[in-house]
This record gives sequence, structure tokens and C-alpha cells, in this order.
Amino acid sequence: MLYTSTRDTSVRVSSAQAIARGISADGGLFVPESIPQIDRAFLDSLVPLDYISRAKKILALYLTDFTAEEIDSCVQGAYRAGKFSSEKVAPLKKIADGAQVLELWRGPTCAFKDMALQLLPYLLTTAAKKSAPDKTIVILVATSGDTGKAALEGFRDVPGTKIMVFYPNDGVSPMQKLQMTTQEGENVAVCAINGNFDDAQNGVKAIFTDKAVGEKLARNGMMFSSANSINWGRLVPQIVYYISAYCDMIENGAIRNGDEINIVVPTGNFGNILAAYYAKRMGVPVKTLLCASNANNVLTDFLTTGVYDRNRRFYTTVSPSMDILISSNLERLLFHLSGDSDKRVNGWMAALKKTGTYTVEADILAALKADFAAGCCDDTATKETIKTTWAGGYLSDTHTAVAIHVYEDYLAKTGDRTPTVIASTANPYKFSAAVLSAVQGDVPADADEFAQVELLCKCTGEPCPNQLATLKNKTPRFTACCNKEDMEAQVYAMLGIG
Ligand SMILES: *Cc1c(COP(=O)(O)O)cnc(C)c1O
Repeated sequence: MLYTSTRDTSVRVSSAQAIARGISADGGLFVPESIPQIDRAFLDSLVPLDYISRAKKILALYLTDFTAEEIDSCVQGAYRAGKFSSEKVAPLKKIADGAQVLELWRGPTCAFKDMALQLLPYLLTTAAKKSAPDKTIVILVATSGDTGKAALEGFRDVPGTKIMVFYPNDGVSPMQKLQMTTQEGENVAVCAINGNFDDAQNGVKAIFTDKAVGEKLARNGMMFSSANSINWGRLVPQIVYYISAYCDMIENGAIRNGDEINIVVPTGNFGNILAAYYAKRMGVPVKTLLCASNANNVLTDFLTTGVYDRNRRFYTTVSPSMDILISSNLERLLFHLSGDSDKRVNGWMAALKKTGTYTVEADILAALKADFAAGCCDDTATKETIKTTWAGGYLSDTHTAVAIHVYEDYLAKTGDRTPTVIASTANPYKFSAAVLSAVQGDVPADADEFAQVELLCKCTGEPCPNQLATLKNKTPRFTACCNKEDMEAQVYAMLGIG
């Protein structure tokens, strides 16, 4: 199977090349030329298997230029026993009649990004061996909080790689910031920027696609790649857990093979929900993909009106990993929905760049509405949902709460009782302040991050994961903060190629 670019369909590369490069030279994203199809018998064959074995079978459909041994060692490395705090890797938990949360945050950094970023370094180094041996891979990451830490942890001390992470100085939670600034490893660097996530992402994209920068790296035996969800190697591991969740629902009796499910995803960059879309296109019986947003509801508007308009106020919310106005992966969806039209994608993306807005035509809007529903909620509703969900016995983080709230709204509006999977994307202790104030009301004004962790633990009895609790005793290593114009210089400084 080959991959092409959303902006130039004359591009044809192997999966290894797509993963090693991260983004196409024309600025487009790599997408599979055709989407592999699975049937009921395939799903049946997955049901008795564990997560690792399911992952191998699913990834083999997309990574056709990887040998079975390569896929095997990548997947074992990523999900082997002990790396995730559940032997199921991504367990389902029933929270209401007809609704189960899919806990995607059982990995080393307590956010769903681990599901992909534990695997990506293996895929990337295997891919680079095939397509660009002897080069040092330089990973640049723009993060709204969780990707940065998960990528640092995934790539730390991986031979032949260096990684640099940029995050918005005022746009991440204290726990997220500490997780990144205390990162260990010889090949890592972290820098805050004065700006928001979109600034960080645009800066990283600009550095990536700048020919002069690329040549400078090449002269030094290096090449860029991306650990953001623009990289196909980030998306493909995410398809696995939706298919696996469907199998688990068969196993736990929620559905029979062939029954439809709905999937609700708290969405930022549109990577996670796009993976669910691929699962649907592959043949998993998914009725509706429900896209949940916080106050930054650019996607809610887009999916209901067909007008994408980023010219709006940017809100800093209690669900910071979704504080995004430009959702990169939407470009992949538009490509597929337009019948692989690079021409139309170029038109929309050029308009977005120039004016911050574009409008899709009626055919695309109809196609969007056939697969997706959308909703949003503000911080007040998010916290109320944390409170009521906790009263029902489940402690959810702020992002997951947005999804639960949007699901409840959808249910009330449509009465659609299709068995539903709600993606749970972070452990609540990553966002202790908001979660604590939601379940307990007032928080003492003098309570710092770890005092809040303790209070939340006392008040709920839910344990704080060790890897978060022990941050209390660590001293930050990376304290730099730069302007967006200086990101390129920061990269050279880290690489020592001034
Ligand atoms: C990244 C993230 C999201 C958004 O996922 P996208 O793939 O960017 O849409 C939601 N919740 C949490 C906790 C995240 O870290």
C-alpha cells in the first residue's frame, strides 16, 4: 500500500517514507491511497486476542513495507507488560447504561498520547533504517501539553534521535509543565514560547517546510521528522484501539459482532477522532462519530455549518489540550471526503492560510453530516459534569468530561441509544485544580499543585499515579522561554549547529 499527499496526489511513498518524513514537502499530509477493508470474520478473529496481537494484525494492513518481524518488535516494545497500568492496555469501563469510557491514559505519562507515542519511536527508527539510514532524526514537537511529555518519554535516549518540544508558556497545566521541564534523557530539550498552541504549531510547521533549514540539517547528517499527529505514524496506532474496543464490547456482551456503535471523542487537533473515522471506513460498524469541543468550538461550527472560521476569540480553558483553533488533521478528512481531490484541499487550505476561513460546498457538508455529529461545552458545564459523573462513581478528567457532557446533550436531543464508546483521554490528576474544584467546590487559595493532588486524593479516594506524585521532588531542567520568531534559533542551539 502506498501513501500520497493531501496537496499533491502525484506523490507516492511507502509507509516507511511517510512516517520518516512526517509531512509531505508540499505541506500536505500523508494519507493512504486506499483504506484497507476488514469484515466480520476479521473482527471475530481479533476478539480472543490480547491488545498486542490485535495491534500487529491491524498495523500489518497499513504498514505493508514493514516485515512481520519488524511490526512484531515495534508493537512488543511499545505495549509490553508493565508499560501500561492495565493489562488490557486500553480498558473499557461502563459509566452508564449504554455508555462505556475507553481509558486511553494508562501509559507512562497518563494521557492518551502514550497510545501512539510509545509506538512511534519504534516505527520511526525502523522506517528511517529503510529510507534514510545513518541520519540523525530530529523530532520537533508543538504541544498543547500532553503530546510534548508523551513524545519526550517515548523518544528519550532512543539512539539516532533528538527531540525538541515547544509549548505555550501560559497554555498548559502546572502538572503538564512540570512533566516536561523535568524530563530526563540525553537527547531531549524543552522550550516555552510566548504565544498559544497555534503559534507553536505554525512555528514548527514553518521550520519543517523551510528548504534552507532542511538543507542545513542535511549538511549535518540530520533530518526532521514529526511526532505531532500530522505524522501518519501517530495516527495509525490510534486506529488500533477503536477496533480493539469494538472487540472488547463484543467480549463484554455490550454488542454482537455487526451491531453499530457510536464513538465520542474530546477533540483538539482532530487526530483521535480521525482515527475513529478510519476504523469506520475500514468496516467497523460505527454509526455516529461525535466530535466534542470546549469553548474553542471551531469544529462544532464547522461540522454543523460547513464554515471553518478560526477568526474568533481564543479561550484558555480547563481542558487545555483542546485549546486549538486550527485542527490539522481535518485536512486528511477533507481529502477523503472530496474523493481524494488535492485540488480542492489546496483551495481550502490556501483560503485558511490567507483569510483564516473557508467554506466547504454542499456535497462535503452532506458527507460530513453523514458521519459526524458535534457539540461543545464551556468550563462551567465541564466541571458540573465532573461532579455528576463522580457522584455516579467515575472520576473523569476535564477533557473526558467535555466528551461526556456533549454525549449527554446528544442523547437528550436525539434519543439515539446506540451503544457508545467515550474516549477518556487523560488521568484526572493531570488537571487536579479543575477536577478538585469540581468535586469539592472551594479550593483553599494557598493550595499549590501538590496540595491539590493530596486534597483530591483525600476527597475521592482515587490514587494519584506514581509518575505524577513523584514530580513533587524533581527540579526543572528546562526553563527557557522564547518568542515565536526565535524558535528556529532555539532548534539550532539544541542541535549545536549554530
Ligand atoms: C491531545 C488531547 C486531546 C485532543 O486530541 P486530538 O487528537 O488532538 O483531537 C484531548 N484530550 C487530551 C487529554 C489530549 O491530550
